[in-house]
Amino acid sequence: MRIGCPREIKNREYRVGLTPESVKELARHGHDVWIEAGAGLGIGASDAEYRAAGAEIRDDAGALFAECEMIVKVKEPQPAELAMLRAGQILYTYLHLAPDPDQTAALVSSGATAIAYETVTGPGGALPLLKPMSQVAGRMSIQAGATALEKAHGGRGVLLGGVPGVMPGEVIVIGGGVVGFNAAQMAVGLGADVTILDRSPEQLERLGIHFESRAKTCFSNEANLMEAVCRADLVIGAVLVPGAAAPKLVSREMLKCMKPGAVLVDVAIDQGGCFETSRPTTHDDPTYVIDDIVHYCVANMPGAVARTSTYALNNVTLPHALRIADLGWKQAMRTDPHLAQGLNVHAGRVTYPAVAEELGYEP
Ligand code: NAD
Repeated sequence: MRIGCPREIKNREYRVGLTPESVKELARHGHDVWIEAGAGLGIGASDAEYRAAGAEIRDDAGALFAECEMIVKVKEPQPAELAMLRAGQILYTYLHLAPDPDQTAALVSSGATAIAYETVTGPGGALPLLKPMSQVAGRMSIQAGATALEKAHGGRGVLLGGVPGVMPGEVIVIGGGVVGFNAAQMAVGLGADVTILDRSPEQLERLGIHFESRAKTCFSNEANLMEAVCRADLVIGAVLVPGAAAPKLVSREMLKCMKPGAVLVDVAIDQGGCFETSRPTTHDDPTYVIDDIVHYCVANMPGAVARTSTYALNNVTLPHALRIADLGWKQAMRTDPHLAQGLNVHAGRVTYPAVAEELGYEP
């Protein structure tokens, strides 16, 4: 199969659909890989590295869209890319169609076969192609919070790990799923005093077994949240209620009990945020202050660490890309029901029931 990987054109997107190592693997399976010139520069991968891995470098995306059977990307296709997709072509990337009627309509009219990373499932209903980005965001949240705690960034001047003779900072993680677990791991590693709140007894038990005495766990109810937030130096918002906006767990009123200069990092901002005072920010201007509390609410945290994020993403997307290329998408999906869950649009129809229902298409 001929596979094309264009340069990402969404504003400030530095990730790339295929690493040179992934190209090498696809080439080893006998596939042709075309990479748009400069596609890997955001992760520090030169055209020469891609060429050495077996790719052909093409100067413009037009040739890729015109001649490749499968396009592998990171972000949803932008209008210029949607216009180049064609019937029978496979598009394999993040799509997030439910809140995006324009993109969905354009994919439908292209006649292409669109496979969305975010709806490919794993055992036990997991979403393995979303997980690495939650791992990245969780780990980054402690770095971002530690920086925001510095005096020059508006924080209260606390070093999370403390030093011998001075107490460490208090980190409260609300939501102990993928983001929360990774945040807690980083905070524990720095030597901070860490408490994780969740409302799932099973999750709390897993966290308790993993962290033993290195982090405390606590059931998430209003009283416990209030008590924890009031003593925190850094609060990480990492809750998710599947299919719903994030619940507002920290009200503006609760900020009054917090220490001036304490920091809130709202990782759940992409679902609306779990602090009442959260609003989305960007990597260019990531924080703002309300009632003396520093807020960090960047909605695409993994974009800042494009190299790590691209490699983490390729670890989980490449095995499916290989099977699609080796077997054709139909046979690959017939033999892997988890991959079949990724099919969102095919031959002018929205095939993913939740998207069809949300946007009024016949599934
Ligand atoms: P997850 O499903 O693995 O974990 C969510 C956890 O929240 C679960 O353990 C659940 O029990 C818990 N929870 C639900 N309601 C709660 C409550 N009231 N109190 C305490 N805990 C509660 O989800 P995840 O992968 O960790 O993702 C968390 C959030 O981070 C999502 O909104 C996700 O979209 C977001 N995210 C943001 C970025 C970013 O760049 N900002 C990147 C990746 C993920």
